[in-house]
Amino acid sequence: MDIKKFVDNYKQDMIDDLSKLISIESTMSDPIEGALFGKGPKDALLEGLKQCENLGFKTKNIDNYIGYAEIGEGEEVIGILAHLDVVPVGDGWKTDPYKLTIIDDVMYGRGVSDDKGAAVASMYALKIIKDLNIPLNKRVRLILGTNEENGSNCLKHYVEKEGHIDLGFTPDGSFPGVFGEKGIMHLDFHSKSTNIKDIYGGHTRNIVCDDCTIKIEKNTYSSKKLEDYFNNHNIEFSVNEDGDDVVINVKGIAAHSSRPSLGVNAITYLLFGLKSAGYQDPFVDYYCEKIGMDNDGKGYGLNISDDYGSLTANNGIIKMEDGVITGTLDIRFPVTYTLKQINEILEDNSDSENGYIGEMKGVEPLFYPVDSPLVSSLLKAYRKVTNDNETLPITMGGGTYAKGINNCIAFGCGFLGVDYHIHDKNEFLPIEELWLQTEIYVEAIKNLLEV
Ligand SMILES: [Zn+2]
Repeated sequence: MDIKKFVDNYKQDMIDDLSKLISIESTMSDPIEGALFGKGPKDALLEGLKQCENLGFKTKNIDNYIGYAEIGEGEEVIGILAHLDVVPVGDGWKTDPYKLTIIDDVMYGRGVSDDKGAAVASMYALKIIKDLNIPLNKRVRLILGTNEENGSNCLKHYVEKEGHIDLGFTPDGSFPGVFGEKGIMHLDFHSKSTNIKDIYGGHTRNIVCDDCTIKIEKNTYSSKKLEDYFNNHNIEFSVNEDGDDVVINVKGIAAHSSRPSLGVNAITYLLFGLKSAGYQDPFVDYYCEKIGMDNDGKGYGLNISDDYGSLTANNGIIKMEDGVITGTLDIRFPVTYTLKQINEILEDNSDSENGYIGEMKGVEPLFYPVDSPLVSSLLKAYRKVTNDNETLPITMGGGTYAKGINNCIAFGCGFLGVDYHIHDKNEFLPIEELWLQTEIYVEAIKNLLEV
């Protein structure tokens, strides 16, 4: 059976459905009646479930948090978990981020890669499984969440109401599968004292801050040295006088906090620049010592790694309230470490005379052996469709739904080595990859049915 031909039949339908989903601004906003995560995420869920109904699947909406579409019968549930919420678009797009735009066979729009495209690919994979009349001795469920980007409270609600799945994947990472996900630790650091009059930058904890502004007293640093520092590091900046003060703005480059080295942190360059220009401030000292330039947690004693990767740390947001500066730190720690170990290291190293850390919140890592039935049957599907027998499953720093439900790993939707600009401007997906994803997911479901 040539699954490609089935995919061909649905190409226009898939583009139509995806473009409806992209047009919904499904970023988290204030709760309203019947929509805990705001109107956008709820509207995206209703649209996604409607599309599933149009394809002939049974659907269930669980309190507008999350919903699912299902085919097949049986005790066991194969789950595919995609999410329909997105992160804010930010500035600098060359197309309208809420309009699916195809240029030279590449789709642009917020969510084409993370994760609305994968939701549509999975939806049509279910449809093709149905078309193929494959006997279904298990239920196959496409679960569509709306709060993945802000704590996955949608999935917690799902597990409370429906329980865990027996086997499955979330198309929200990389092919050919993610057998380990780093643990996550979130914390805030604070200034004990500072001369800074105001500072603000960033809007999301899990994105490298790409814009930071500070207000400090005039003549407290060498403006020549500051300019040289920014120019030497190719940093875009502006300096404006405001009475007795100056307001300095620095632009960086956003990237996902699981791979902070792909970005340029505006806060970091601004504060390191000021320090090198002779600006004296206890908070700037704390920042440069503890947060540092290398995103590796070294200042807190956290520069650890294992066979599968190293710890990363990202400062996403900074702000000042009532004279106290607070910054966020998003730490991704190696898959063989535990939260307890990270806590212990932090407790020993966080406090100094210039600053301190506050409350810590974390999630344990995830780890499945590469030869487990789950990882190996998904790898088989990838290999069958792509003929790529070289690329091996990976571990990653991103936290996906796989951490929130048993028997699940991330599988696709990205191909290894491509930066799809997720969580950044000009997020894209080559249209061919949408068809490939669909084909791979059909094979994956077939394999999981046989486990
Ligand atoms: Zn995602």
